[in-house]
Amino acid sequence: MIKRRKTHTVTAGSVKIGSKHPIVIQSMVKFETTDIARSVKQINSLAAAGAGLVRLAVPTAKDTAAFAKIVQRAKVPLIADIHFSPDRAIEAIEAGAAKIRLNPGNIKNIKDVNRIIDCAKAHRIAMRIGINEASIRNLLHDTPARRRIDLMIKEMAGYIKIFEKRGFSNIVLSVKSSDVLRTIEANIAIAEKFDYPLHLGLTHAGLAEDAIVPASVAMGTLLQKGIGDTIRISIAGDPVQEVQIAQKILASLGLYHSNAPQLIVCPTCGRCQWDLVGFAQQVKKLLDKIDRPLRVAVMGCVVNGPGEAADADIAVCAAAGKGFIYKKGKKIAVIPQSKLLAALKKEIEKIS
Ligand code: SF4
Repeated sequence: MIKRRKTHTVTAGSVKIGSKHPIVIQSMVKFETTDIARSVKQINSLAAAGAGLVRLAVPTAKDTAAFAKIVQRAKVPLIADIHFSPDRAIEAIEAGAAKIRLNPGNIKNIKDVNRIIDCAKAHRIAMRIGINEASIRNLLHDTPARRRIDLMIKEMAGYIKIFEKRGFSNIVLSVKSSDVLRTIEANIAIAEKFDYPLHLGLTHAGLAEDAIVPASVAMGTLLQKGIGDTIRISIAGDPVQEVQIAQKILASLGLYHSNAPQLIVCPTCGRCQWDLVGFAQQVKKLLDKIDRPLRVAVMGCVVNGPGEAADADIAVCAAAGKGFIYKKGKKIAVIPQSKLLAALKKEIEKIS
């Protein structure tokens, strides 16, 4: 079991972030915030998929005005994403943001940063201090990795000082890079130095097929070390997929409790003599309708399959026109292969 790093608890509306609380999955709306209907629909789809917080961009005053309306209809607390404009930050807080994401480095005037902090404090909202490697000052193309991380820590330490001096500690920290190793190293360094909750993410990760592996490696490495209190998987595509990937990463480390059944499918090899992939896809459809933890294995052959699937609640395999069903590793039926799906469905229903 993973022992999470001890942190403060940060409150963002009804959501608590920090080591005593489950890791919060978040995502971001991909429509313009002024498109209220579609933004609300996407937020609520993300909430239904398992997002605990959803972020929206508010680049203009029209966006913060729309944000105020969206907050009323959102099923989860919302985060306003602020860049450059202190006025947008204040408007978003007053519009009902539970949290704002701020890179203090792109708010030029310290008086404005203090004005935002005071407003956040008055409204009891949370703030994420987000630093991206690309926004670090004094960074040259050939600045070595260690120096880059030192600069990020130094910049973060400076910002935290400003917030703490103002009496504001409801903060989450994030240091991001598009480089997996630097993301890991920077987050370890920040986690060692500060005890605020950490938001994990990898910037500009790419299209889903390119983003999933680097994001999983970066997030998985950090989470395994107990680092990370809220997570966003950035992909260019459907944000619901971001939530699903985050759940899978967390679940693979025992950090996410889900009632969803688990489907195990063997990778197949030369011993497999049936359409295992097609069959597994049909089983997946069956399992999508079930809301209880259940391990179902679809294996390619009778030689290794049953042994490899011994820890599944139900396992099936097929060979030479016959279908085999196993429960907890014990064979319970041998039937014609054509009847295997229907028989499996019945067995699933018995224990669901
Ligand atoms: S279960 Fe059988 S078919 Fe599947 S990978 Fe193992 S040996 Fe190959």
